[in-house]
Amino acid sequence: MEALVLEKQHELQIRDITLDEPLGLHDVRIALRTVGVCGSDVHYYENGAIGHFVVRAPMVLGHEASGVITELGAEVTNFKIGDRVCMEPGIPDPNSKATRLGIYNLDPAVRFWATPPIHGVLRPSVVHPAAFTFKLPENISYAEGAMVEPLAVGMHAANKAKIRPGDVAVVMGAGPIGVLTALAALAGGCSQIIISDVVQPKLDLAAKLGPITPVNVAKESLVDVVNKLTDGWGADIVFEASGNERASAGVFEPLAPGGCVVYVGLPAKPIPYDVVAASVKEARVEHVFRYAHVYPRALALMGSGKLDVKPLITDTFGFADSIKAFDYAAHMPATSVKVQIIVAND
Ligand SMILES: [Zn+2]
Repeated sequence: MEALVLEKQHELQIRDITLDEPLGLHDVRIALRTVGVCGSDVHYYENGAIGHFVVRAPMVLGHEASGVITELGAEVTNFKIGDRVCMEPGIPDPNSKATRLGIYNLDPAVRFWATPPIHGVLRPSVVHPAAFTFKLPENISYAEGAMVEPLAVGMHAANKAKIRPGDVAVVMGAGPIGVLTALAALAGGCSQIIISDVVQPKLDLAAKLGPITPVNVAKESLVDVVNKLTDGWGADIVFEASGNERASAGVFEPLAPGGCVVYVGLPAKPIPYDVVAASVKEARVEHVFRYAHVYPRALALMGSGKLDVKPLITDTFGFADSIKAFDYAAHMPATSVKVQIIVAND
């Protein structure tokens, strides 16, 4: 089949690749429709590795995907051919201890699309477990379906925060994950979000999506804005989604006493952690690794109209222009949020 293959660092090719994918009893075969370009895909293209995941052999990219079911495994009863779906890209070992505990995202044996050596889905079709495949609501497009993967990270972060209705949250970082975390937090009951970044167009876009106050930290102090909006009390929740080392080290400053910090972004290096600042506020600190159990909830929120990801889909390319899409995503203008590739139309 014809796929977008990362041959090695800096070298992408659209070419034929043979992928042997037998259809298991509990699997479905899916014809891909839309695949989003993720920061991680671009990172593999530009650097050939993320941490200890190194691209050592040609690998198909792409993991934010939607499609249509073309074939059903013999034991699959909850889908029919023609169902429009999106897919969780991480497949854990169903018998592992992590999976039995419900924390299947933490299964050390998880196989995640476009994480070496597992192939991604910028290709015509894939076989996937029905258990990790989810029907799109009728009013949700394939493009929106391909946004569920990055949204799932924000949904998981919102779950970890244990939001109470009316909470005020800070989101540090207005990249795709930051903005999707803000939307998930609002849908989950937050009354307002204060979002910080240094790139003004990203903040401008975020501010249009709901009760979201943008703060350009190159020009003003986040803590000052939070104090002004909360009568000096602080934010109930701080989501750190920038991965910036200074921001990550400063999470306790805008936090309210008894508040919760959720680390979403990954700093490149270990950061200093102010135990005293966390202690005097009895801060609860949470971390996320990808997500678990949130796809149905994300789709329910999108289907009901409570959460709209469409404004974040800023750039769309055809499959033949996949390499162009990656070069664009690698040097994206500040006004762009999410690049998607249409693998095929219905
Ligand atoms: Zn992604």
